[in-house]
Amino acid sequence: MKKIAILGSTGSIGTQTLEVVEQNKDIQVTALAAGGNVQLLEQQIRRFRPSLACMGDEEKAKDLRNRTADLNVRITAGMEGLLEVAREPQSEILVTAIVGMIGIRPTIAAIEAGKDIALANKETLVTGGHIIMPLAEERNVRILPVDSEHSAIFQCLNGENKREVHKILLTASGGPFRGWNREQLSKVQVEDALKHPNWAMGRKITIDSSTMVNKGLEVMEARWLFGVAMDQVQVVIQPQSVIHSMVEFEDGAVMAQLGVPDMKLPIQYALYYPERKYLPGERLDFTKLKSISFETPDREVFYGLELAYRAGRQGGSLPTVYNAANEYGVAKFLQKKIPYLAIVEMIESAMEHHKTVEQPGVEQILEAERETYEFLESRW
Ligand code: NDP
Repeated sequence: MKKIAILGSTGSIGTQTLEVVEQNKDIQVTALAAGGNVQLLEQQIRRFRPSLACMGDEEKAKDLRNRTADLNVRITAGMEGLLEVAREPQSEILVTAIVGMIGIRPTIAAIEAGKDIALANKETLVTGGHIIMPLAEERNVRILPVDSEHSAIFQCLNGENKREVHKILLTASGGPFRGWNREQLSKVQVEDALKHPNWAMGRKITIDSSTMVNKGLEVMEARWLFGVAMDQVQVVIQPQSVIHSMVEFEDGAVMAQLGVPDMKLPIQYALYYPERKYLPGERLDFTKLKSISFETPDREVFYGLELAYRAGRQGGSLPTVYNAANEYGVAKFLQKKIPYLAIVEMIESAMEHHKTVEQPGVEQILEAERETYEFLESRW
């Protein structure tokens, strides 16, 4: 029996992870954490019987405790609760399906407790990759990518020598506004940005995909996961989302991983690595697939991608500022308090304002996040 804990079990990745658990009979769920969705977490507890669960705050935890009084489950709350879920003694793998850089402390706690990480929560690696990757190596812990692109790269690297990688070709769908100009983008409303052409995902990542900030975060995520330089990661638009990413080796050979867009594949691959298991669902049919096309991203219109390269090359605390400003901007946009283009404008102004700290520790990362929020609150 494989034993797993999940941070963010009520979200898009969290619920799909539980679908994978449901389809396989050899995974036991030991602990679950959610933010505000008490009703769904209660259903999940009844179905999967973890011994520990956590809600975003004490009030919600109290509600969940009342609802699950007939069950043998301990309910915790807030950051202390997330840390407990991350370290839950029985579990072998922590699935980090929580959204935002709130995942950084629990991810570190899980690595310190010797758990492998099935990592969806890219914001954690973007802000704390320089802490997490060496720590994982020191503790002999595996960081198994769940993001479809990074899983693809991971699969392409199977059995290969990482030192022979020339570059990583990170594919992107281009999102719903591919080919648009800034004038068109200035009119984008929340409802427009929440429609992704190929993937059904949580709200924040859907907005990030539309601005291409998601791709910027993914370039930084790839840099840490695969130990390459920022400029060894090239973004290629592949609108059909059939090629999930590619690796070019020193001899010019290119390996790619293809498939229908289904997050359950990378989730299951991370949970069973290095084993491949049957996964029900649609298959790529090359007789029906008419074409796979490629484009170069427009880094002037979607300059959130350009800013990510700037942040990643500089490193230190600047990627945290990039990420925190984006989290702040996306939340404000979703609340309809700022226009669409202001998200990336916020990132740029916060990055310009910030004085980079080299090799920041966790406290300095969290301080950079706070400072970014304060700066943006005072300016916008
Ligand atoms: P969702 O918004 O769908 O889910 C987020 C999860 O985090 C929910 O379970 C939510 O709980 C929980 N959560 C939020 N705040 C807190 C908190 N303070 N304490 C505890 N739990 C909290 O996001 P996604 O599943 O789309 O994305 C999760 C991560 O995976 C992100 O980092 C994203 O970039 C990454 N990712 C997602 C992909 C996708 O296909 N969705 C693909 C690749 C990467 P609740 O709903 O109960 O409030």
